[in-house]
Amino acid sequence: MRLEGLHAVVTGGGSGIGAAIAQALAREGARLTLVGRRREALDAIAATLPGACIAQADVTDRAAVDAAFASARAAHGPIAILVNNAGIAPSAPFAKVTAEAWRQTMAVNLDALFHCCQAALPDLIAAPSGRIVTVASTAGVKGYGYTAPYVASKHGAIGLMRALATEFAHTGLTANAVCPGFTDTDIVGDAIANIQAKTGRSADEARAQLTRFNPQGRLIDPAEVAEAALWLCLPASRSVTGQAIMVAGGEVM
Ligand code: NAP
Repeated sequence: MRLEGLHAVVTGGGSGIGAAIAQALAREGARLTLVGRRREALDAIAATLPGACIAQADVTDRAAVDAAFASARAAHGPIAILVNNAGIAPSAPFAKVTAEAWRQTMAVNLDALFHCCQAALPDLIAAPSGRIVTVASTAGVKGYGYTAPYVASKHGAIGLMRALATEFAHTGLTANAVCPGFTDTDIVGDAIANIQAKTGRSADEARAQLTRFNPQGRLIDPAEVAEAALWLCLPASRSVTGQAIMVAGGEVM
């Protein structure tokens, strides 16, 4: 058990990639706090993790994040691992992106990282091997059409990890990003439905629109992303910091 007793907070831990990361960390002995807005989703995943607690919060709300992290500490002690996974991925042609949609995407995908990293920071730098892992995206290192706010926010997320890696290199804290390609979760399910609705294509054709980006021709399994995140959290990964690790079938080399 390489993370025995360490307290890990996973935002968006009630579904998809966040749930898979929580399960991978728990298998190595971490004590989990799952953060998200939907209580039922959080409860369902927490029920699969021994001793996990949940902290319901909208990560765009700093006061809610502070309260959630305080309750997490009260349950499981200081936070040693922070996984910034909560995210949204709306799509629209750039000319039709509203100011509200832009702001909301930035709020969830970027502002929330500021809130969560700052709220956990005192614990993370006091820990012998503090870890921040942010679930960014291949969209953090390359452009895609029809998702400008998402691409911009994920580039910012990787930038923040690089800044923190540099600023805290003298401590035990590392800060990295994992960058999945299209992964088999609700976000991609929604994207497939959106393509179908807008183009009249079948579900298989819409799915192929996304898998064509991956040279391996498939969607990534959330468990594969979780393995990369787990590796970054291990004490033995202490020299890996400020990195953006692609989990994308060779899409971005
Ligand atoms: P998902 O199942 O829809 O997960 C998104 C999670 O974020 C949900 O659990 C959601 O929980 C949480 N969330 C959203 N807004 C929130 C808010 N304001 N406050 C708190 N929690 C919030 O989709 P996913 O694919 O696993 O996405 C996880 C991360 O992976 C995202 O950052 C996404 O950008 C990234 N990613 C996904 C893919 C992909 O193809 N699936 C590829 C690259 C990167 P609640 O709704 O309960 O709040």
